[in-house]
Formats: sequence, structure tokens, C-alpha cells
Amino acid sequence: MERRQVLHVLALGSIGTALGQTPAWAAEIGQPWGYGGETGPDHWGDLSPEFQVCGLGQAQSPIDLHHPVPATLSPITLNYHPVPLTLLNNGHTIQVMIDGDARGGNTLDLEGKRYTLRQFHFHHPSEHTVAGSVFPMELHLVHTHDDGSIVVLGVLIQAGRKNPHLTPIWNAMPAHVSKAQTVPNVRMNPHDLLPPEGDTFRYFGSLTTPPCSEMVSWLVFQRPIQASRSQMDQFAQIFPNNARPVQPQNHRLVLESHRGEDMG
Ligand SMILES: [Zn+2]
Repeated sequence: MERRQVLHVLALGSIGTALGQTPAWAAEIGQPWGYGGETGPDHWGDLSPEFQVCGLGQAQSPIDLHHPVPATLSPITLNYHPVPLTLLNNGHTIQVMIDGDARGGNTLDLEGKRYTLRQFHFHHPSEHTVAGSVFPMELHLVHTHDDGSIVVLGVLIQAGRKNPHLTPIWNAMPAHVSKAQTVPNVRMNPHDLLPPEGDTFRYFGSLTTPPCSEMVSWLVFQRPIQASRSQMDQFAQIFPNNARPVQPQNHRLVLESHRGEDMG
């Protein structure tokens, strides 16, 4: 399917969003957007009044993570367990949906608030950079709270060994825009996709896709995970570039723990 057609399909499929019925984290807004040309990141803020903050915001994501400030950071507790594998190609990424009963049990506790894991998805190349270095891919696990706040765990992916925990997703990855489909008899634990050590960079920012809402606590793991070149190539054939460039840091600090964190 041509990109233009893809965008048109998305536009038809998301009229409800324009009426405010879908929260921002689920963003499939009617206005087409992409990663290049006239609907690319440089133009997002001009495409729709709902996207204005993409251009005007002062706390946009991603950013380059450099010179982190050592701080005493609150521990994170993850309560993840295996879920059925339900995924889709939304025209912007491959997204695994955490639905229904499974969702209730996949949570993240941070500073006295419990956030629910809604979905996770991938970018190629990475959106965050570390001291100027781009990684081949990045995984985002999106958690929301009823008060509208969002916590995203970012996991950088470097080239290395084949990652067996990606295999069920990669085997089912739709090459074209699709509705969510559940893969029969497959369950996966999102925890398997996290690095073994829990130290994170933390800062406050935004969604990295329109509407770019500034309501996101970002926790990006300092240690990357690995995937093989052929795994990355397979993703890149569908999404050669679905990464927003880094945004100005402005007044924001990037924090890091000055001692080991306790991530459950
Ligand atoms: Zn993302």
C-alpha cells in the first residue's frame, strides 16, 4: 500500500479521535502525519490545531540524553506478567496492545501512583540519543494513569545477538496497515524485553508522535538490549525511519540514579 493510501485509511479510521473520545496515548488522530516530506516532523505543529504543541511546546521528546544529574530517584516497581500477543501495524509502528483482563495485571508503581501498561511499540532508528549516539532501534512501553499522566519506559536496542523474546512479535509483524489481531496460542511477558539492570535516565517530556502532549514521565534504561541485524532489517523493511528527531532540552534536567535502583 502506498504511504498516501495508508494515511488516508488511518484518517477514515479515526474520526472518533477528533471528537476527543480517544485519549492521547492511543493517538490515531484524523490528520495524516508521517516521518518525511510535507507531513514530516518539521511540519507536525502546522498540520492541525490539535498538533500545535508539537511545534510550540518547550518540553518535547525525544531529547539527547547527556550530562545527567545524579539524584536520589524513587524506585520503580513493575508488575508484569505474560499476556496474549495482540498486535497491529498502525501505519507509524508495530504496536502490541495490552487488552482487557491482561491489562489489569500489568502495572508500574512510581511515587505512590499505579500506572497501567496499555501498549508497547518500536522505533527505527532510536528516538532518544545518548551523548549524541543514535541506537538502531528503541522500544517504548506506554503506561497511563486515570489522571491523564503517562509513564513511558524507553529501551534502546543495539545490534548483537538475536533476541528470542522479539521472535513471536517479529513472526507476526504485519507489513501493511492492519487491525489488531491476536496470535493464537502465544503469550509473552513484556518484562522479558527489559534489560537486566534497572538504572534509568529520567526527564519530563512529551509523546513523540502527534499530538505531542507534554504529560510524559520518561524513564529510559541506561543499558540497551540486543537484537540481531536481521531482526532490525526486517523491521526496517516496513519502517525505514519512524523516529522523531531530538528536540531542544530547554530548561529540563536529565536525572540519573547515583545508586542502584530497585526495579522489581
Ligand atoms: Zn514511541
